Amino acid sequence: MLTDTIERKARKARKDRFFSAVLAVLAFPLITAASPAPHVRPESAETQALVRDAARRSPLVRALIDRLDQSDVVAYIRFARFTDPLLEGRVGWLSQAGGRRYVVIELSGGRLWPVQIATLAHELQHAVEIAGAPAIVDTRTLADHYGRIGMRTSHTQGLETFETRAAIAMGAQARREIMTGTVRTTEEE
Ligand SMILES: [Zn+2]
Repeated sequence: MLTDTIERKARKARKDRFFSAVLAVLAFPLITAASPAPHVRPESAETQALVRDAARRSPLVRALIDRLDQSDVVAYIRFARFTDPLLEGRVGWLSQAGGRRYVVIELSGGRLWPVQIATLAHELQHAVEIAGAPAIVDTRTLADHYGRIGMRTSHTQGLETFETRAAIAMGAQARREIMTGTVRTTEEE
């Protein structure tokens, strides 16, 4: 799912809270030992564990992370509590600064681990789609782009929501990989 929270004035208060939270994130980026500047940035120990495990078990997730690392898109990863109980995850626009474009991937907390990994792959595909579309520079151009390449779902009042077949396919593929793959518990980090 991809949402554009900017359009409705009625949502302004909620939007202000969202962006103040975002500013806090950007002010205190999580430092990881693996890479000096990874483009996939989990915000918590829990999301860091999810990303690490997903990358270890899913070649697709590794490929999506590699593509983002080679792009100008930086994706923060966080768990969120959605008002829509059917929503598993979403990508929202943050900002453009210093030659980078910043998005946030929010995943519904409290789901089964394989579901969260599949949702992560799904949302990483959206981030890769954004990386491949340099015309996306704000929420308006984001909505315009997905209006062209995506399917408008709009089931949440006040939000423009979109979906792509590619993201659905990536989620399904990641789920197959982790369900059929051998869990290498003795593998070195
Ligand atoms: Zn989606």
